[in-house]
Amino acid sequence: MVELCALASGSNGNCYYIGNEKDAVLVDAGISTRKILHRMDEAGLQPSKVRGIIISHEHSDHVHGVRILSKKLGVPAWFTQGTLDSLKHGEAPELVQIFIPDKVIKIGSMTIHPFLKNHDAAEPCSFRIEHDDWHVGVFTDIGEPCARLKNHLRKCHAMFLETNYDEKMLWDGSYPYHLKARVASAHGHLSNDQAFELIRDHAGPELVHVFLSHLSGENNRPELAAARFESLSDRFNISLTSRSTFSGFCRLR
Ligand SMILES: [Zn+2]
Ligand SMILES: [Zn+2]
Repeated sequence: MVELCALASGSNGNCYYIGNEKDAVLVDAGISTRKILHRMDEAGLQPSKVRGIIISHEHSDHVHGVRILSKKLGVPAWFTQGTLDSLKHGEAPELVQIFIPDKVIKIGSMTIHPFLKNHDAAEPCSFRIEHDDWHVGVFTDIGEPCARLKNHLRKCHAMFLETNYDEKMLWDGSYPYHLKARVASAHGHLSNDQAFELIRDHAGPELVHVFLSHLSGENNRPELAAARFESLSDRFNISLTSRSTFSGFCRLR
């Protein structure tokens, strides 16, 4: 059995839970430890099952809570060297482990496949997490899908997939031009349309659940992201994540 949920997802903070009967990992810790533990409690999850915190990249919506969370749970946080070196002063936890893109890591009974992604950070990674032949993807903060991503995505039964912005809302919105261009660039974020095309064309036959993730508060609305994916709802389940509450579970068994 593998169960997954987003404890927080959005451009203001991210934390994803993937666990089995015995062990769990958190991917990113971009909200406070207090909020993460509160939402785990709401979801009925045991913090004592968490064996490690895997960090995708150094942006604050992914690392804000990591130092305290690692200390509180007594588990290491895993970084690429590039990400670790890019943390701001005082952000690094005491318990640190280094991973290398494309080199498999074992955390408890779970197997993690980290791989590089296109995003404006030092050494940003996406992850495919494997247990008992179940495969879960954490695919957020991606400017442009690459061959590696399509390859990992095809194997997944469930995933967190970035639907960061609606094209029209971004370009009509209040961001200064340089920020709009950054979001839409090959090293920014996936739009609803990009994510839709990616999954329509590259999902494997075994995909059962997609969490629409990392929505922008400025440039997207949950109902727009959900509507974009409506035509795929006969192929797999689609649900939204939230910045302010846990997402509900997907359970693979
Ligand atoms: Zn982010
Ligand atoms: Zn980012």
